[in-house]
Amino acid sequence: MTIMVTGGAGYIGSHVCVELMRAGHSIVIFDNFCNSHREAVNRIGVIAGVSPTVIDGDVRDRGLLASTLANYRCSAVIHLAGLKSIAESVSDPIRYYDNNVYGTLGLVQAMRDTGVHKLVFSSSATVYGAPVYLPLREDHPLAPCNPYGRTKLMIEQMLGDLAASDGSLKIAILRYFNPAGAHESGLIGEDPRGTPNNVMPFLAQVAIGRRPHLTIFGKDYDTPDGTGVRDYLHVTDLAVGHLRALDALERQDRIKVNLGTGRGTSVLDLVEAFSAACGKHIPVVFAPRREGDVASSYASCDLAQQILGWRATRDLKAMCRDAWKWQSSNPQGYGDPRSSS
Ligand code: NAD
Ligand code: UDP
Repeated sequence: MTIMVTGGAGYIGSHVCVELMRAGHSIVIFDNFCNSHREAVNRIGVIAGVSPTVIDGDVRDRGLLASTLANYRCSAVIHLAGLKSIAESVSDPIRYYDNNVYGTLGLVQAMRDTGVHKLVFSSSATVYGAPVYLPLREDHPLAPCNPYGRTKLMIEQMLGDLAASDGSLKIAILRYFNPAGAHESGLIGEDPRGTPNNVMPFLAQVAIGRRPHLTIFGKDYDTPDGTGVRDYLHVTDLAVGHLRALDALERQDRIKVNLGTGRGTSVLDLVEAFSAACGKHIPVVFAPRREGDVASSYASCDLAQQILGWRATRDLKAMCRDAWKWQSSNPQGYGDPRSSS
């Protein structure tokens, strides 16, 4: 089966590509590299032993999408292309609605034009907003509190309308919790541009000496140690979840599931685990809460287990070990002079 992976050069997409290729699928990466590096594609090829096909394109280019789907006879799309910074979505919402919502509209039109019926979409736990109860089940009320989250919810709703109107469509919506870690080879991983927004890449950059300390946002939350609690999930487990979703679409037309571990980890727990993994002290500085953050968020994983037969198997120690392997072998990420050697 040939699968188009939009956003396949990005952090999660590169891991998804590796797992798809390992499972024997052919892939076509469709990416405009607005937040990724071409070197990631080379590394995917090194891990998989075969170079993936890459189309340098924007998902808002419906014609190019359609011709790519047709030329490579793709039978499914895994759609990860999108912008993901909450802060940027607040300052520049048009860019987010254009890229994420309009981009997905173009994709589903191209799929319709070329008779491709299977879609796996990257959604986010952000669609739930502030938890009314924990763990978050898929039927929890949806109330995203920023433009990024609203683009994800709008896309979910659009896909729901499409599925209701066309019985031949098979759509899986995956709500990711907090992806973390890297491929165990250390060849691919998360390489954010500028200052990382997320805690794990920030920690890794402190450990390698690129930043002096981690700023912890809030120490007065109603959590065991006062710092924010999240459901961190190994990016390889997450990638495998996409394969299980593709399989499950053979049995079921509509899927909407959380991908998480069901375990909550505080920022201080994470700092301790990362420090053990890298063998270094990680300096931290406490600061006020970050606007829009919730105290705790973690997934109910029952539905993923039931529908996909999937559950996360890698623990926090593995996430920190692999994130550190990636960061320590690529101190400057893919831009490291050693990257292309
Ligand atoms: P990423 O930025 O590393 O990867 C996204 C990829 O999409 C990049 O390679 C980028 O160049 C590409 N892209 C963006 N806009 C495009 C466009 N218009 N046309 C073609 N390519 C485009 O991000 P990621 O962390 O790998 O996230 C992948 C998906 O998962 C995103 O949709 C994101 O919203 C979603 N998600 C991520 C997280 C997370 O914490 N990383 C959590 C929940 C959901
Ligand atoms: N966090 C932090 N310092 C940082 C980045 C994040 O203390 O530099 C905290 C944040 O307040 C939250 C947790 O780490 O409690 C996870 O944040 P992240 O941005 O990684 O994920 P999200 O908030 O999107 O779940």
